[in-house]
Amino acid sequence: MPADPSLIQELAENLACRARLGLGLVEARAGDLRRLGAALAGRTAPDQPVPAGAAGAGPGLRPSLEGVRAQLGDCQRCALAQGRRKLVFGAGLATAKIMFIGEAPGEKEDEQGEPFVGPAGHLLTRMLAAIGLTREEVYITNLVKCRPPHNRDPRPEEAAACLPFLEGQIAALRPQAILALGRPAAQALLDSDAPISALRGRWHDLGGTPLLPTFHPAFLLRSPERKAEAYADLKALRRRLA
Ligand code: SF4
Repeated sequence: MPADPSLIQELAENLACRARLGLGLVEARAGDLRRLGAALAGRTAPDQPVPAGAAGAGPGLRPSLEGVRAQLGDCQRCALAQGRRKLVFGAGLATAKIMFIGEAPGEKEDEQGEPFVGPAGHLLTRMLAAIGLTREEVYITNLVKCRPPHNRDPRPEEAAACLPFLEGQIAALRPQAILALGRPAAQALLDSDAPISALRGRWHDLGGTPLLPTFHPAFLLRSPERKAEAYADLKALRRRLA
């Protein structure tokens, strides 16, 4: 049965209102968010991690990063498309064992079309070096691929619209471990409204892939006294891979 557009609109406004009130990524389950995002975007197959199609993957098949990128195209599935200069898909090794997921591109990323190239990106590079890794050995992306205005957090309906493509990237990479950088990414991936301080520091299960939330480098630039905890998380990652 087709969804009632007025109900969908009402739900979207409710979600946006909760987000404005700082109530986190709402109590809806991840599947609800996916269905909402897809309905708002006019897409079908919202329960599938990656939209099936010629450029992505058929049902049950492993997608490729190129296929997922092709599915995105010149994406207009949420309002963030209107303000972006460049869509920031992701960067790094296509066979990476480790995936880093932030929340959204910032100003420099929006200019260059690459993730984590501003000051927070430089700190991330140094954090990787601290555990013997380079950016070329990992894969880095964001929850949403377009810059939110004034670097605000992605709204629930924006995260929901973009989530199937992040799931496609995860399915393509099949990483051994994922680090969720910051609250919005960790909450969206874990379908939780717990604060990042409660989520970080322990491993979670994301559909069979170990996921470790930690602080976003941009937060660490503002709160350098929390760097020791972030480095503890990175060392936990190193131990896990070893
Ligand atoms: S944030 Fe994601 S869903 Fe929204 S326009 Fe950009 S690529 Fe599309």
